[in-house]
Amino acid sequence: MAQIYERVALIGLGLIASSMAHGMRARGLAGEIVGTARSAETRDAAREIGFCDRVEDSAAEAVAGADLVVLCVPVGAMGAVAAEIAPHLKPGCVLSDVGSTKRAVMDAVAPHLPEGVHFIPAHPVAGTEQSGPHSGFAELFENRWLLMTPKGADPQALETYVEFWKGLGALVEQMEPDHHDLVLAVTSHAPHLIAYTMVGVADDLQRVTDSEVVTFSAAGFRDFTRIAASDPTMWRDVFLSNKEATLEILGRFTEELFALQRAIRQGDGDHLHAYFTRTRAIRRGIIEAGQDTDAPNFGRGR
Ligand code: NAP
Repeated sequence: MAQIYERVALIGLGLIASSMAHGMRARGLAGEIVGTARSAETRDAAREIGFCDRVEDSAAEAVAGADLVVLCVPVGAMGAVAAEIAPHLKPGCVLSDVGSTKRAVMDAVAPHLPEGVHFIPAHPVAGTEQSGPHSGFAELFENRWLLMTPKGADPQALETYVEFWKGLGALVEQMEPDHHDLVLAVTSHAPHLIAYTMVGVADDLQRVTDSEVVTFSAAGFRDFTRIAASDPTMWRDVFLSNKEATLEILGRFTEELFALQRAIRQGDGDHLHAYFTRTRAIRRGIIEAGQDTDAPNFGRGR
């Protein structure tokens, strides 16, 4: 695949940034990949793994002369990082992010945008429960959605950036930021909160010992624990920055939960059976859309 940007700078070198770097390398999308991270430990790990051509100690040095700069830090840190790099961005470059929420990131970054820099917010709907520079892999974005919220972006800059993500194997879609946040509250944010809750409940239950929870962990609980092992900082920021949409979905979830609770109490098997039949069809739809496999354990080796 042809090179799309001469120099790409990645700020933050965790799961998403390292996967982008491996993917860019594998497909020759960037002439040079420069990276930086907050801690010396992560920068040293990135140097050792070698997914960047250059790892700089400061974000200012990393973004100098870059044609594409991608913020790969937790959502709550985007504003501060944007303020730090703003004076050092090359005029005409594309500034983007990979944050899981979009309205809050746009509001946090916009005030710092220098004239002539094209801001194109984006969110790869791809991830694992792993984090850090060792967790990335080149195929993470293959056949996964990349949602962009490019309000008023320059058409040429946008077209090139879309090509870049397609080059990483992603399917690209554009959305309004508030709609993005609502969709993700349904498909990702509320489910994560429910998983965190269920694992917390099991942990609190005094009559079932910790070792029983681990030893007899059945498919349902095991899947929850995988999700609930996700990075605490990232997910704290997701909920704080997508408050309204998450609370709306959780309100609806609570109502449904009460209805199912009543059906169980009243022995209403028809209600339960009809409900589970409807939800099964959603799973089939996801598999048919190529967004998961029907292999046991979701076919996930990683
Ligand atoms: P990660 O593996 O935990 O890496 C986060 C990186 O950000 C690290 O390099 C960390 O530096 C740096 N960082 C953390 N706090 C910072 C701060 N206050 N200021 C500056 N840098 C800071 O995270 P990730 O999974 O790659 O997630 C990065 C972004 O992608 C997040 O916005 C997240 O919402 C989004 N996202 C994640 C997923 C997912 O499944 N993981 C999926 C889609 C989008 P140190 O290592 O030096 O601490």
